[in-house]
Formats: sequence, structure tokens, C-alpha cells
Amino acid sequence: MDCIFCKIARKEIPKKFDYEDEYIMAFADINPVRPVHILLVPKKHYEDLYNLDDQNVLFSMHKGVRKIVDDKKLIGQGFRIITNGGGAQLVNHLHFHLMGPVDSQEKI
Ligand code: 5GP
Ligand code: ZN
Repeated sequence: MDCIFCKIARKEIPKKFDYEDEYIMAFADINPVRPVHILLVPKKHYEDLYNLDDQNVLFSMHKGVRKIVDDKKLIGQGFRIITNGGGAQLVNHLHFHLMGPVDSQEKI
């Protein structure tokens, strides 16, 4: 499929992964909005969270989040996860943005 994240999953575009398992991969956003801005992305193409039909992906997302939060030492500094869907996304391949540090007073 002609999708940038599918190409990364097929290793057609070389990318350093911060986390990888059978179901997902995680890599730095090309245009970070926080010092830590990692995308967690299923290897299989789903348009958005609404269209996801494999709970293994969510389990892996949780494992990936925990690994990156530990590696980037975000406990105590704060982190935030967002996912755009239903047409709000720019890349039509499900991904979670994991961002930090985040202050508890800043809302969105
Ligand atoms: P969305 O609006 O779909 O939630 O966000 C798409 C995100 O993907 C943006 O933050 C954008 O910077 C990021 N992005 C788009 N193309 C690439 C790419 O080729 N490589 C990486 N690492 N990030 C990308
Ligand atoms: Zn895709």
C-alpha cells in the first residue's frame, strides 16, 4: 500500500525504532512538538482507532508506551498520548503520539 507508515513497516524506509514487537513499531515523529515525541504505529494498516479490530495491537501499544516512558525518564516529568481519527488524522494509518514532558497545569 502507498502509505508512509506501511513503507516504514516494510523497511522500505530505514528508521530507528524505539520499540518494536510483532504488532507495532515506535519511532520519533519527524516534526516533534515536545522534546519527546514518539509515534506508536501498528505494523498492519488500520485507518484509525475506530477501525482497529485486533486487541493484540492495544496490548502492544501499552507495552511500547511503558518502555518509552521508562527509557525517556518521563515518570515525574509527565507524558500525554493522543490519537487522531475519523478524518482528523493527516496520516491515514493508526498511530498514537506519545509526548513529554507535560506539565499538569497545561491542558491540551
Ligand atoms: P496526525 O495528524 O496524522 O495525527 O499526525 C501525523 C504525524 O506524523 C505528524 O506529527 C507528522 O509530523 C508525522 N509524520 C508524517 N510523516 C512522517 C514520516 O515520514 N516520518 C515520521 N517519523 N513522522 C512522520
Ligand atoms: Zn499504512
